[in-house]
Amino acid sequence: MAVNKAFKASICSASEYKCVICLQLLIEPVVLPCKHEMCKPCFRKNVEEANFVCPMCRKRIASWARKCIREGTLVDQNRWNLIQKLFPKKCLKRLQGDDDDSEDEVMYPLGSDG
Ligand SMILES: [Zn+2]
Ligand SMILES: [Zn+2]
Repeated sequence: MAVNKAFKASICSASEYKCVICLQLLIEPVVLPCKHEMCKPCFRKNVEEANFVCPMCRKRIASWARKCIREGTLVDQNRWNLIQKLFPKKCLKRLQGDDDDSEDEVMYPLGSDG
């Protein structure tokens, strides 16, 4: 059986660019040495404040993180540019603080006689 493995469709799925913390589209992605990636705001909250330990695999990344912060290379710019190209609308929404997954929920007033 000859299966052509080389033929692989490139799928632009938002799930490939998901933050491991907030499970939403990565904005300003920070890629840790252990290959876990998360948005910069999530990094600040979950890694910086946790003494630079990866929240997923508990790897210590203190020296790496300090170096990146000093050099201003914390955000993976190539990846960030790519994500913005692929999902411009989603990025805008995330940056504006909108929850992309939220649906318009209508509150129905309950009958309150009694
Ligand atoms: Zn996040
Ligand atoms: Zn990790």
